[in-house]
Amino acid sequence: MNDQKNITTSGADYPDSWYAASVALPDAAPSLSGALDVDVCVIGAGYTGLSSAIHLARQGKKVALLEAERAGWGASGRNGGHVGTGQRVDQEVLEKQLGMETAKQLWQLGLDAVQLVSNLISDYKIDCELGSGNLHFAAKPSHSSEIEEEVAHLNAVYGYDQISFVAKKDIGHYTSAQGFYGGSYDRGAKHLHPLKYALGLRAAAFSEGVQLFEKTPALNYKTTNNRIVATTPSGSITADRVVMACNGYLEKLCPTIAPNIMPINNFIVASEPLSDELADQVNRYRTSLSDTLFVINYWKLSNDNRMIFGGGENYSRRFPSDIINFVRPKLLKIHPDLANTRLEYGWGGTLAITLNRMPDIGVVKERVFYAQGFSGHGVPTATMAGKLIADAILGDCGNFDVMRGLPTRAFPGGTLLRWPGLVAGMLFYSLRDRLGR
Ligand SMILES: Cc1cc2nc3c(=O)[nH]c(=O)nc-3n(C[C@H](O)[C@H](O)[C@H](O)COP(=O)(O)OP(=O)(O)OC[C@H]3O[C@@H](n4cnc5c(N)ncnc54)[C@H](O)[C@@H]3O)c2cc1C
Repeated sequence: MNDQKNITTSGADYPDSWYAASVALPDAAPSLSGALDVDVCVIGAGYTGLSSAIHLARQGKKVALLEAERAGWGASGRNGGHVGTGQRVDQEVLEKQLGMETAKQLWQLGLDAVQLVSNLISDYKIDCELGSGNLHFAAKPSHSSEIEEEVAHLNAVYGYDQISFVAKKDIGHYTSAQGFYGGSYDRGAKHLHPLKYALGLRAAAFSEGVQLFEKTPALNYKTTNNRIVATTPSGSITADRVVMACNGYLEKLCPTIAPNIMPINNFIVASEPLSDELADQVNRYRTSLSDTLFVINYWKLSNDNRMIFGGGENYSRRFPSDIINFVRPKLLKIHPDLANTRLEYGWGGTLAITLNRMPDIGVVKERVFYAQGFSGHGVPTATMAGKLIADAILGDCGNFDVMRGLPTRAFPGGTLLRWPGLVAGMLFYSLRDRLGR
């Protein structure tokens, strides 16, 4: 849907980014050639597909994983690496929309998702710069009292004591970031190097016996004699079940679920390594940080003290031609102390959002499961969604049904006409970011 196939790729087929430059990129797994018969065919090797494949294979299922490019090539290898607690939507909103019981289940699933990421990292000894803590800052005065109320609510109603309010006067204790009015400090949140995590899951999938085929797009699928046949350029997979895990890159593969999501592009820069002194100044406790704007800014330091800053998105089919200069003003507004710091990398990725910003998880027809639309919260929730689908296929539908029961609405206008409405709406809200409220 956009120009990411036109951006420079490294020798190993991953888009240029600091992430790709800072890992040993593995050789590609073979493409599928010929016919294969398996229990489950998973399509898409980001966190959703990898997690699903791992959890199915762990329980003895024969799994084929088809990836159009390379495992972790999509959003899973390009994101900010923030592993937030809870869901993308505030608990009080979920309570009003879905009732207290469901809201509490969702909160617990959010915590379990962070734990699941940590468990996979420790089970498979994935070296991915796992760190902890998130500071979330109010970008407008009114947002500070909202955060304070939310923190009190999480403490009192959910018994969650890992989060505390940070008054405006105390922000300087944590960071030299400018322009904020207070915030929260969530010690239960984590952060990581997203491509190292994705490639660690890829290795884990191999160790569990998953058959991964890279550079192998699924072109279509159809049901024949109660089994599903997915066709690829040089072969086919026949399976009892299919898991659709293509998220923002789904395009036309599954028209039934495509209208439920909108692919949008988001952009990140990485600086040269900061001195230890400057790194302490901008991020004393090496947490992740984010703000409350509609087009959110989010940042953290890498283990080698680079500022990894995400900010700015677009809703077109193209990435900006100069991503570094697209993102730089947003970084310098928050961190004028980095004015003389060189930005060495800039890249973008495509994520999928839903209308209500909650994941869209379900079944297309009896044997085709899917999860998509993590709306910028997918490091934990896509990992969890893959596991929930695996659990459902293995016969435990409990939490899968909680997620499946969330109300999903197609974007008005469907896949053809959703763009104009979305662009108008997004531009309206991003304009509000720049105005007082
Ligand atoms: C710039 C950016 C920053 C973000 N920051 C954060 C963050 O800090 N924290 C957070 O929680 N979330 C963040 N997100 C969101 C998060 O990255 C995603 O929600 C998550 O990675 C989704 O995982 P996925 O496996 O569902 O999709 P993806 O990782 O996008 O994987 C989908 C895969 O499917 C493959 N595919 C598509 N079609 C086919 C086909 N026909 N056949 C075979 N394969 C196919 C694609 O090649 C791709 O590899 C960010 C996203 C972006 C883009």
